[in-house]
Amino acid sequence: MEILHVSAECYPVAKAGGLGDVVGALPKYLNKLGHIAKVVMPMYRTKFLYANKWEVVHKGYTNLGNWWFEFTVIKEATNVLDFDLYLIDINGLLDREKVYGYDDDSERFTAFQIAVLDWVNEWKHHPDVIHVHDHHTGLIPFMIKHSFKYAAIKNIPTVLTIHNAQYQGWMGWENSRFVPAWDTWRWGMLDWQNKINPLASGIKCADKVTTVSPSYLDELKYMSNGLEALFEYEKGKCVGILNGIDADVWDPATDTYLNHHYSIDDAEAGKAKSKMDLCETFNLDFEKPLIVFIGRLVGEKGADLLPQVIADSFYYIGRRMNFLILGSGFPEVEASLASMKSFSQYDYNVYVGYNEALSHQMYAGADFLLMPSRVEPCGLNQMYSMRYGTVPMVRRIGGLKDTVIDYGEKDGYGICYNYTAVGDISHGIWRAIDLYRDKAKLKANREKMMALDFSWENSVKKYVDVYSSLT
Ligand code: ADP
Repeated sequence: MEILHVSAECYPVAKAGGLGDVVGALPKYLNKLGHIAKVVMPMYRTKFLYANKWEVVHKGYTNLGNWWFEFTVIKEATNVLDFDLYLIDINGLLDREKVYGYDDDSERFTAFQIAVLDWVNEWKHHPDVIHVHDHHTGLIPFMIKHSFKYAAIKNIPTVLTIHNAQYQGWMGWENSRFVPAWDTWRWGMLDWQNKINPLASGIKCADKVTTVSPSYLDELKYMSNGLEALFEYEKGKCVGILNGIDADVWDPATDTYLNHHYSIDDAEAGKAKSKMDLCETFNLDFEKPLIVFIGRLVGEKGADLLPQVIADSFYYIGRRMNFLILGSGFPEVEASLASMKSFSQYDYNVYVGYNEALSHQMYAGADFLLMPSRVEPCGLNQMYSMRYGTVPMVRRIGGLKDTVIDYGEKDGYGICYNYTAVGDISHGIWRAIDLYRDKAKLKANREKMMALDFSWENSVKKYVDVYSSLT
């Protein structure tokens, strides 16, 4: 089967979160199974763009409402990613440093989707499935079916994967002029509560919808930022498929970001050396358990509670643990975490910003990884941490619930709690300190976690089942 993935992110080209990781890995594993998976995404100004060779495969001229523009499709020439990668260049609109965060994001991603479909319209041999990801590409299922100029490709089945339903790409109805001339009887397929809602439109129009974990799909029916009724209504075509992790990139035995490699047999020594490096760099105490947080400093991740959790832990439990935080997000949370450095010595530090290398070193060197998420569609961090022998401390929600079993339960290994609340998280920290003291149990837990299989090989077969049901 030939599958064309359309996405705003793809690791290592451009990544802002888990979406990038998934789109960077899934096509590779589909190809390993003998399918042909390709990725098309916007051409941003990224390091990857300048470090690789490109060939021009298509030039087009199209319009976004009254604005006419040229676009170019370039293809990475040496197959470095093990799948065909295409970038769409729209001068001035897509070629920026950041993926998101501009006032004209609606225009940028609508123009991107139009350019993709104009290009696919020209293909002599059509893909078997077009697989779109999140709201940035959520208008494609609508446009393919209801924009007149795509009549030649209207029968290509579409799959929408929801990596995060909090963000839906809402835009006012005045933007309907951007959608290439369409069957206006179908306006209801664009609309949700008097706005054009690209994610809702994708859910309505795609032939199949997947979410990145089974529990997340259940939760969306009662908590999806306004789309609850839609998820309930469309549940017949929805499937929850847990993300895998890219076991080639995330392997403590070969990870190029690590200075000390290890596998299950020598995990204690490898992790100790990695922890020592972190403690030296960040002025932490090697003897105490090291609890880390890696991720976006936003409410979804429960990051707003971190300052209080840390302060309370020091106050009530005593300075019996270290905390190291890596992340960026809400300025107030960043500022409050940064200000805490002044009253913490040798047991707390924070790196505000995005740092891929440091994230790998933290998965390796930490003892515990904190994830007090309010919403967690799948969560990759907990799977990375387990592969690196670091005990996840998670709230039972979404993908966290599907991947972590509490060490108090049968066959368990992690630390779980029910609510994103300071008391619950702090109780988890008590239990972490307890577990850290019991070296034999901690070692056994590490071995259990490192042996778990979160590879894409399992998940990718479920995607193939979805595609097969449509072709
Ligand atoms: P989300 O996509 O909701 O942010 P995921 O758990 O699915 O959450 O994916 C997060 C990914 O982003 C992981 O690979 C994590 O290591 C990475 N990440 C998040 N914040 C940072 C950061 N500040 N520096 C480095 N990596 C980060």
